[in-house]
Amino acid sequence: MGLWEGIKRGADAMTRAAQPVPYIAAGHQVRCPHCQSIEFFEGKALLNTAGMTFLNLDWANREALTLMCGHCGLIQWFGADQPTRGLVDTHAKPDIDPLE
Ligand SMILES: [Zn+2]
Repeated sequence: MGLWEGIKRGADAMTRAAQPVPYIAAGHQVRCPHCQSIEFFEGKALLNTAGMTFLNLDWANREALTLMCGHCGLIQWFGADQPTRGLVDTHAKPDIDPLE
């Protein structure tokens, strides 16, 4: 499987989640660098050997966790220290009302 197949599989996995949720990575709230949203759809992407070598990620897992912004759709990849669901700052509020 090629890198693009992995990306497509990750995108497919992301479309299965119902609502975007907050994540924490390395003790920090994951935030979209484009629109500042803190809610994401989780997905997985497989990295083949050629792709990992090209990206100098031979040390990493063969599977990356991807978080797609629930607001603008920007995708962030996490290889080693994978995010967990949650809020660092309990005063932070999701910017999208799930009831809308
Ligand atoms: Zn965004």
